[in-house]
Amino acid sequence: MLRVVCASANPHKVAEIFEIIREIAQVDLLPRPGELADVVEDADTLAGNARLKAVAVCAATGMPALADDTGLEVDALDGRPGVITARFAGVGATDERNRKKLLQELMGVANRAARFRTVALLRMPNGQEIVAEGVCEGSISDTERGERGFGYDSVFIPALSNGRTFAEMSIADKHAVSHRGNAFRLLASRLGELPTA
Ligand code: IMP
Repeated sequence: MLRVVCASANPHKVAEIFEIIREIAQVDLLPRPGELADVVEDADTLAGNARLKAVAVCAATGMPALADDTGLEVDALDGRPGVITARFAGVGATDERNRKKLLQELMGVANRAARFRTVALLRMPNGQEIVAEGVCEGSISDTERGERGFGYDSVFIPALSNGRTFAEMSIADKHAVSHRGNAFRLLASRLGELPTA
């Protein structure tokens, strides 16, 4: 079985990725070693940031590494916040401040169309990579709705959710349509491209 170290230190995210991948492929997903320093995500693309994280973990562990990076693209904001989604309201901003800034910038704006985009990247110690992108089309709500989730979940309404925000959906329903679900399902379906898989 392919053994892969997850570049994310967030246990919820590791569990989520494991759930998605194991439906499709037999992969042993290991958590990121605690002693590894955080990687500065200063690339100007999602793939670039995912690569920075995967390369660092791959170099430190000598094992295949799996990383991802996500951005929210809002049409009325010309695709912002995009690659700076995590720090939309400034470096170190909380999820709550990011959501408030988004709703503020869109106050009175009729075009609410937006999408989440995730790039998932598996890096092998020999430099071989599989890169897979997943998108979830949707729109930004007028106010926050729902209790579940994290990040922008309470302000993002996926197109395939009957009007519910991510924060109003069950985890399983979210995975079925989400950007991360789509990216990791595609990546898992392509593992056969690796000679070692
Ligand atoms: P990351 O690349 O997973 O660190 O995410 C970048 C930014 O997008 C952070 O602000 C996250 O909170 C946000 N984000 C990523 N995935 C989701 C999601 O599924 N729902 C809501 N926000 C998300």
